[in-house]
Amino acid sequence: MSIPENLRKIKSTLPDNVILIAVSKTHPPEAVMEAYTTGQRVFGENKVQELVAKAGQLPKDIQWHLIGHLQSNKVKYIAPFVTLIHSVDSVGLLKEIDRQAKKNYRVISCLLQIYIADEETKFGLSFQECEALLKSAEFGALQNIKITGLMGMATNTENQEQIRKEFKNLKTFFDHLNNLSTLNSQLSTLSMGMSSDYKIAIEEGSTMVRVGSSIFGYRDYTE
Ligand SMILES: *Cc1c(COP(=O)(O)O)cnc(C)c1O
Repeated sequence: MSIPENLRKIKSTLPDNVILIAVSKTHPPEAVMEAYTTGQRVFGENKVQELVAKAGQLPKDIQWHLIGHLQSNKVKYIAPFVTLIHSVDSVGLLKEIDRQAKKNYRVISCLLQIYIADEETKFGLSFQECEALLKSAEFGALQNIKITGLMGMATNTENQEQIRKEFKNLKTFFDHLNNLSTLNSQLSTLSMGMSSDYKIAIEEGSTMVRVGSSIFGYRDYTE
């Protein structure tokens, strides 16, 4: 099927409150434009260099999300325009995002990436680390970032029940944070679910799914 057909099919199954991020990593700007012509405006990339290159060539009303691991020394390249950073996993990185946001007279929205998978390779904070970060004075002092929610990736497994359990745990933690009276901002976004597991993620409370291969086709590599 074509990119527009794939998009229409996926969109028709999404509840109204779930935002679809079209993950265009490794695919050329022409593929992004095919999705754009159907009305899709939110795209995700996992590498800074690729994100910056595509943003420079494509329409300015596209909202770009960084979904992959971010190194502090690369924040400056995306700070002028990025809409949402999904993958914040340290207060050090948050401080650099804050610094670069200030330089650009912006407030940058970020999600904290939480480690929920049963794998060694995934980045992210534990529940405890996340809660400690949100309660820290260091975090409280930052004025040009806004934490709007959490992001998580389930284990890459065929075991649907394990995936469901991991998403359920993240949703429980998300609700727990929103019930803390010490947190002075509500978290509204729960970014979980990719091509292989977004249906389960939505059943477990996802509000934002990051879908790549089901829209754009298979990639030669995944990271
Ligand atoms: C690549 C990627 C996705 C999309 O993966 P698909 O399986 O192609 O849908 C989602 N989230 C992150 C963080 C990714 O790197």
